[in-house]
Amino acid sequence: MRVFYHTFGCKANQYDTERMRQELSARGADPASSLEQADLCVLNTCTVTNSADAEARRMVRRVRRLRPDARIVVVGCSAALHAADYEAMDGVAAVVPGHDPVRVAEAAAPASLVQLEDRRGLDRLDVEPVGGELLRRRSAGTRGWLKIQDGCDRKCAFCATRLARGASRSRPAEQVVAEARLLARHHPEIVLTGIHIGHYGRDLGDRTTLGGLVNLLLDEVPDVRLRLGSVEATEICDEIVGRLRDSGGRLAPHLHMPLQSGADPVLRRMRRWHTREQYRRRTLEIAERMPVLGLGADVITGFPGETEADHRDTADLVDELPFTYLHVFPFSPRDDTVAARLALEMPVPERVAGERSRDLRERVREKARAYEIERSGGAADVVIERPDSGLTGDYLRVALAEVSADRVAHLARGVLRMGADGLYIEHLGRPAAPARS
Ligand code: SF4
Repeated sequence: MRVFYHTFGCKANQYDTERMRQELSARGADPASSLEQADLCVLNTCTVTNSADAEARRMVRRVRRLRPDARIVVVGCSAALHAADYEAMDGVAAVVPGHDPVRVAEAAAPASLVQLEDRRGLDRLDVEPVGGELLRRRSAGTRGWLKIQDGCDRKCAFCATRLARGASRSRPAEQVVAEARLLARHHPEIVLTGIHIGHYGRDLGDRTTLGGLVNLLLDEVPDVRLRLGSVEATEICDEIVGRLRDSGGRLAPHLHMPLQSGADPVLRRMRRWHTREQYRRRTLEIAERMPVLGLGADVITGFPGETEADHRDTADLVDELPFTYLHVFPFSPRDDTVAARLALEMPVPERVAGERSRDLRERVREKARAYEIERSGGAADVVIERPDSGLTGDYLRVALAEVSADRVAHLARGVLRMGADGLYIEHLGRPAAPARS
């Protein structure tokens, strides 16, 4: 049986697909490199926006059209919230709400029936365990993803992910370390991912924290660069900041800290737990301690009720803080969320949300360019992802046009000097040994 996998959405979803791939391969399935070769198609869906759901449905129809004989199994977040919709679609053989690789493998067997009996809904928390068989390798990509927890206990008004993924569940630290050791055999960088990694360890009852886990990984898994996935500004402890600064690049000096809005009235309606000032203060505290820092954030424009003054507050904050990139999205209502109801009561026109997005993107583009110029001439710890491009610890994707091909071939990670226009021109050697404080 040849299986084609298609993944929508975030790194956590990509990680989940790798676990499914591993489970199915262990049962004798071969991966198909294209849809045309596939007997089975596993679609791992995302539900972050209504259009993510629509995209998944489009993909089901496309697979059905191109490969009418292939078995289609729909899994993941959108499947968790809309199982019945997928079940009703022509050609769908099975729906697995969630990401359990064993259940996906069982659903892949021709005899299995559409599985709806235990789908999760809006009123139920996900109890799918995290863990199980360790992931040994990410099949696509130089960098490996390692999911350290799943789910989220927050209740942001716009978020459907937590509805699909349920409460926060952490993997035991020893399991994470064991998986990191396996992944480090193949990947020069491992990204610690999850749905809300700042809450790592809260449910374990043994006082493990994200900072403790990072320290453990740095000690126990040598010769690999670690990178934190998205983590909330208010949940980054001083221990983590210390390792970002002092680990000799082993913990990449990069943070992605969701902001969502820089206006307090909007943050309150979003049901975020932090204020503008709390985010601002923590970001400046962290940035002051870091000689080099790649800093990104997610921002939503045009959230229900957002005024021009609110937008100016956000724009001022974007100007003030040392962001090196932003992911800006105009608000789009997501069914079944509080924000969808708010959008009926206090809508912001799509055109306005779009203009505000463009404004923020323009502002950050200039900051990003200024940061690249500032870094030019300095040394950078680079993971080489393709012969002609690499990724620095501080999250600059750089061209490698002036590094010779034979050098690139044996250099998965090295310290290079940054030239003008983002080129790395001089190989300076292996990354410095970590300096534990
Ligand atoms: S913190 Fe908010 S946006 Fe992030 S996963 Fe939790 S509920 Fe969703």
